[in-house]
Amino acid sequence: MSERYYRTTRARETGTQVTTGHADDMGLDRGEYNGVELTRWYNLCEVHGCIVGHQTLALAKSFAAAPTEWCEDCRYAVEVRYVAEVRAELEQS
Ligand SMILES: [Zn+2]
Repeated sequence: MSERYYRTTRARETGTQVTTGHADDMGLDRGEYNGVELTRWYNLCEVHGCIVGHQTLALAKSFAAAPTEWCEDCRYAVEVRYVAEVRAELEQS
């Protein structure tokens, strides 16, 4: 069974590009342990180069929409933006 998926999508929460794909296509390790492939699918943050592995494509697809869950730099960028927004609001009031 050869299931292939390789797609770059834009995550709404950060506005950054995330590539989701099979470990083989990404040139990454399947992370096999006792015959079970633990990281068959991967997300790659195209901005920060951060990667995270998943066992199923469904999981990888769901995490593609939420890079702040697994990319520290994305999380930081969103926090900085949030603080700036709050500060701007406070200055207006
Ligand atoms: Zn990132």
